[in-house]
Amino acid sequence: LVRLRARLARSQNSLGKGLLTLLSREHLDEDTWEEIEDTLLTADVGVAPTQELVERLRERVKVLGTRTPEQLRTLLREELLLLVGTEFDRAVKTESGLETPAVVMVVGVNGTGKTTTTGKLARVLVADGRSVVLGAADTFRAAAADQLQTWGERVGARTVRGPEAGDPASVAFDSVKEGIAEGADVVLIDTAGRLHTKTGLMDELGKVKRVVEKHGPLDEVLLVLDATTGQNGLVQARVFAEVVDITGIVLTKLDGTAKGGIVVAVQRELGVPVKLVGLGEGPDDLAPFEPEAFVDALIG
Ligand code: GDP
Repeated sequence: LVRLRARLARSQNSLGKGLLTLLSREHLDEDTWEEIEDTLLTADVGVAPTQELVERLRERVKVLGTRTPEQLRTLLREELLLLVGTEFDRAVKTESGLETPAVVMVVGVNGTGKTTTTGKLARVLVADGRSVVLGAADTFRAAAADQLQTWGERVGARTVRGPEAGDPASVAFDSVKEGIAEGADVVLIDTAGRLHTKTGLMDELGKVKRVVEKHGPLDEVLLVLDATTGQNGLVQARVFAEVVDITGIVLTKLDGTAKGGIVVAVQRELGVPVKLVGLGEGPDDLAPFEPEAFVDALIG
């Protein structure tokens, strides 16, 4: 965790540091406020949240009068925390509360890190003493099932897969069936994310969801977004949200971008919290999203 925090800090602290430097200027003129806005927009915070934050900062700085570095840091920390939101329940639901396993479906566009995230999540759960079944319902990307199975073997989770280019819903159905038969705690289902047509995606994910629900409730639908894709990620998020009820967001590749503001933008867009972040390609590089740690990483 310490290592992950350090990595998060390395990739993110230019935003907070930039803001602190600007806020410390002797004269906070209009140009400076514009620079502050630009800094936030460049970090993908989004237009509305940027405007709100700047308005609040202006107000609070005015009330403050003199500005010591410590005061500014505290003020910025509070305001960024407010923006990121501390009110959400960010725990991934991995207990069904029933006799049957919790079922978590992982969705997102190919290449965002869906399969890797599913594998990493399995690893965390197994390390925590939970038994996991993996469902390789991404039957369209030829290597996806192999990749998932490799993760499964590495972490000690059985992988249920179907024939190549087979029916994703049938793999999803079988994986939950297997999970129930084995008395597993959690079933993680990796899905295909072809965005070529919305109806295609809708049909496919809708069907996966319906067959899973024949066994019982779907506990969590995690949308995986690549943090480096910025506004494009938001467009993807919107499409997926129209198709399935997203319950949490996983933001991957935060190690490769300083544009952590996307956390704020995507939560706003979907009204659901970022629950996990990916901070690298390695097996341990998945972390719960903690607003305090994130904001501290921003401010440095
Ligand atoms: P999928 O098509 O969505 O299943 O994507 P994959 O899981 O195959 O991941 C695509 C690429 O992104 C792979 O090379 C992963 O190693 C890489 N990747 C996934 N998550 C992260 C992350 O958090 N950070 C970095 N740097 N790379 C990641």
